[in-house]
Amino acid sequence: MKRASLILCGVLLVLEMLGCGLVFERQQPAREAPGTTEICLWKGDKQAAISLTFDDALLGPTQTYVQLLNARGMQGTFFVPTDWIDNPDAEIKDYANVDVDHGTWADWRAFAAHGHEIASHTHTHPHLAELESEDVIREELNLPKQILERELAPLRCLTIGFPYGSSDERVQRIAADYYIAGRAPQGINAARPPDFFAIKRLGPRSNTALTTMTGWMDEAIAECGWLMVTFHGIDGVAWEPLSRERFIQFLDSVQNRREMLWVAPFVSVVKYIKEREDARVSDVSVDAEKITFQLTDDLPDDIYNESLTLITYVPQAWTRVLVMQGKNWQRVDVSRDDEATYVLYEAVPDQGHVRIRPIRYIDK
Ligand SMILES: [Zn+2]
Repeated sequence: MKRASLILCGVLLVLEMLGCGLVFERQQPAREAPGTTEICLWKGDKQAAISLTFDDALLGPTQTYVQLLNARGMQGTFFVPTDWIDNPDAEIKDYANVDVDHGTWADWRAFAAHGHEIASHTHTHPHLAELESEDVIREELNLPKQILERELAPLRCLTIGFPYGSSDERVQRIAADYYIAGRAPQGINAARPPDFFAIKRLGPRSNTALTTMTGWMDEAIAECGWLMVTFHGIDGVAWEPLSRERFIQFLDSVQNRREMLWVAPFVSVVKYIKEREDARVSDVSVDAEKITFQLTDDLPDDIYNESLTLITYVPQAWTRVLVMQGKNWQRVDVSRDDEATYVLYEAVPDQGHVRIRPIRYIDK
């Protein structure tokens, strides 16, 4: 059956190179017992995750980005230096951001209303690792969180992109007092990032070829990993702007890989990973009419509320089920192949018992 797991991904890459075409085949011969539940590596049982991120609160480019993302049902992460918003007197030292419109809080509220993450990019966009005073670093990390959570209430501000990728152990330690993750250096992330305050990213420059950018995605898919792409300007505005045409080509390449890629904001992927690694299934009860169990974790529920994708193996006779958790319910078709009969669905840790019942149709 179609299932991405860390071990399988490695094994099956070899098979793929041999051309045997078994990339998604499940390896275990035995049929799983009904009631057995697994947490998928990525939401929707996709093979990899991708986060599209946009730096420096560039109003004009963001209007373009948001329109193009919305048209494809994608949500991005926008890193905002809070001192630059609604502030004509801001002292902007970064040459690429001088004389660029950074918008008002009303603009950023409107972008957030489409489900995009508005995240911290510090207050004044300094090279954090070059600051001597810990108090100044703390101010640069704390203030934007306070401002964003005030201006965009009730939304939370839980992630930060360090300007210029400038961070060190001291910066990351202080950042952990305010955020759940930070974005810093270059590369593609493993499915289990070793350090949530050094989440890697790759970003195109104006002359980066489309094939280079799609190669990043294909590498993430091959590794079952997480690619974060960083964009700045577009249409000649700001640092290393892409042409609109190139950006659209890239988004369409993401769209073409959507079967394999979970496209989600920075914060959603961090929550998913931490919940996936911490959550456990217990109190399993199985009979002919229902499967019930508990999905719990030890993370704070006010932050970690991202739904996990679960696979539960069900009796062979079931064809459609109702999955209920608290007040939420989903109707899900049962999937089956030579080795397993199962349902794929969403549940949130610590939100009550998960109950799965077959839907039976009465012949008339
Ligand atoms: Zn920046």
